[in-house]
Amino acid sequence: MAKVLCVLYDDPIDGHPTAYARDGLPDLAGYPGGQTLPSPKGIDFTPGHLLGSVSGELGLRRFLEERGHTLVVTSDKDGDGSVFDRELPDTDVVISQPFWPAYLTAERIARAPKLKLAVTAGIGSDHVDLDAAIAHGVTVAEVTYCNSISVAEHAVMMILSLVRNYLPAHRTVLDGGWNIADCVSRSYDVEGMHIGTVAAGRIGLAVLRRLKPFDVHLHYTDRHRLPAEVEKELGLTFHTDAAAMLPHCDVVTVNAPLHPETEGLFDDRLIATMKRGAYLINTARARIADRDAIVRALESGQLAGYAGDVWYPQPAPADHPWRTMPHHGMTPHISGSSLSAQARYAAGTREILEAWLDGTPIREEYLIVEGGALAGTGAHSYSTRTR
Ligand code: NDP
Repeated sequence: MAKVLCVLYDDPIDGHPTAYARDGLPDLAGYPGGQTLPSPKGIDFTPGHLLGSVSGELGLRRFLEERGHTLVVTSDKDGDGSVFDRELPDTDVVISQPFWPAYLTAERIARAPKLKLAVTAGIGSDHVDLDAAIAHGVTVAEVTYCNSISVAEHAVMMILSLVRNYLPAHRTVLDGGWNIADCVSRSYDVEGMHIGTVAAGRIGLAVLRRLKPFDVHLHYTDRHRLPAEVEKELGLTFHTDAAAMLPHCDVVTVNAPLHPETEGLFDDRLIATMKRGAYLINTARARIADRDAIVRALESGQLAGYAGDVWYPQPAPADHPWRTMPHHGMTPHISGSSLSAQARYAAGTREILEAWLDGTPIREEYLIVEGGALAGTGAHSYSTRTR
């Protein structure tokens, strides 16, 4: 029988909700491009309910306990003596979400001899040391596509919010003010701007598609080029790398995974090549940007704004400089954890567990590491320190 250790974020301060703002979720036919939605044999939760916090348990308890497995759910994941560290040594399966990542470092993996499966209930498995997972034969899987559109919507919202100076204007209302000049002296239209994405995978391409109707000039860079018909349909300009694209852009959105190729990409040197007053939106991973270089660029005016929902570490400490730097539109890590997304990744997590417990193959598109090597989506989008 397996022991499943599930790390989830804390419940709302006022307790787990007993009522919701809406009565349900829209029906989706599938993902763009034809990938099918998660298809577990069953679910024990109500789509649209809060599943990602401790009391939500990703809707897994009944399913696992009916089969005789053990489920431990905690939010206590960091620091010596955390519940996570205490429970890990005899755990078979770890589940965590990127929003509240259980960092599976090489040291932790070495202390978990029974660990066989690490599931990311979401997308982005950089909180798992993939080299260590490969060395120890741990399978890593994530729920590919589950929240890609959720993040794309968030990125578009943040682009509009920064360029139009929405958050300071809203603050004026909350503060009882009405100084129009204060609100508009940093407010522009996105129409006509050049907007580029670093990576045009599921999220990056969805951002480009959503921006197209704003009559902007769209740019992208990626390791693989998009089909010519997509480039034509969206009027895309391809650049060989970020360094080649950035000088052309008024707005840059980052949609690449964090891996050795992208870590620290946006440093002082690269930011200096951007147009003065460019906006940078990073909903991918915090460490793709150099934390202090971002602060310096906002203070000097090299960047007119920075927004995103990804931080390092998570949760961000109270004195993290991104909380107080000028002209930012940061949120906690929420873009991929809307109630809509939660229903998909809870179902996808269950689908992965069903396959693993039954000894049947996990969907190729959910795999990051398997059999001691990058596999499936991981083989396409990730790199290790040696690859
Ligand atoms: P995809 O795998 O669909 O797309 C990632 C793209 O990045 C691929 O096209 C890949 O290229 C490209 N890429 C990889 N390395 C580079 C590089 N060095 N330069 C340029 N492009 C590169 O992933 P998603 O779009 O679904 O997600 C992207 C990332 O967004 C995730 O890895 C995750 O970190 C983050 N994310 C954030 C969430 C949030 O809540 N904020 C939620 C979900 C994801 P190729 O295919 O050519 O190899």
